[in-house]
Amino acid sequence: MIKLTKQMKEDIRKIKEQDLIVCQECGEGDIVEKMWVNTNSYVSIDGDAYYKYSGDIDDGQYWCDTCDDMCHPLHITEYEKEKKWKKNIIKT
Ligand SMILES: [Zn+2]
Repeated sequence: MIKLTKQMKEDIRKIKEQDLIVCQECGEGDIVEKMWVNTNSYVSIDGDAYYKYSGDIDDGQYWCDTCDDMCHPLHITEYEKEKKWKKNIIKT
């Protein structure tokens, strides 16, 4: 089993903040993606199971827990760009 150090956990947290997929509507990161995983292929880290992707991913199958609806996810940088762009449109 892999042991996570404090530094590793901190690094993972930072990566997650900078590389987040968010909902296009609400900007929240509570998004789940529908995909196939191999039931017998996983590693357990700190009580969480990490599965290996298996086969094709169903395209466009995302669910936002905040909107409680299907959503179109964006990378956080794209979302911020779009938000700024929309703000500028309203101003002018
Ligand atoms: Zn949402």
